[in-house]
Amino acid sequence: MNVVYLSIGTNMGDREDNLKFAVKRLAETAGVTVEMVSAIYETAPVGFTNQASFLNLALRLTTSLSSFEMLTVCQQIEQELGRVREFRWGPRIIDLDILLYNHENIETESLIVPHARMFERAFVLVPLVEVSDRSTEQLCLAHEALESMDIQKEGVVQWKKSVSVEEFVRFEN
Ligand code: ATP
Ligand code: CA
Ligand code: CA
Repeated sequence: MNVVYLSIGTNMGDREDNLKFAVKRLAETAGVTVEMVSAIYETAPVGFTNQASFLNLALRLTTSLSSFEMLTVCQQIEQELGRVREFRWGPRIIDLDILLYNHENIETESLIVPHARMFERAFVLVPLVEVSDRSTEQLCLAHEALESMDIQKEGVVQWKKSVSVEEFVRFEN
């Protein structure tokens, strides 16, 4: 079984419903077991700052799927929710990023793992450490990167406390 960490973000529409839909679809995917979901955090936008604030979470899953199959699953869920790619770092209904896939280092055109910008993003690292230990070098790095950040300054605020996966995906739309 492969251990995978994902980051999910949204800043359009009913943001909590978008998160729930995405996690539910992951949980329903054959070969994927969602093990743990973080609390939900609210974060001011970075990059292009003139847009609504984001809700973010991280989750840990185990899967028999390859990293590229996982990317396809993520992109399918983005499409189902009607994500339109307007411009990089602009508003989005949903964004699913693969943070880590086991301890692998992948560098291809379509997939870079660990995620290329994860270690500098508090809104990624704060939820990630909630669902991770320090069992790999990359997770140690993630924990250390977060410890060296000024979280207050980064403006990552807990928006809803974490609940079990079952409770999280108990969702009808
Ligand atoms: P960022 O990558 O800075 O978080 P973004 O999530 O807004 O920005 P997208 O437009 O969602 O960027 O994705 C651009 C491309 O990134 C995708 O087409 C995908 O092939 C590629 N990509 C590379 N590595 C990853 C990864 N680890 N997880 C998800 N997508 C990835
Ligand atoms: Ca992203
Ligand atoms: Ca993305």
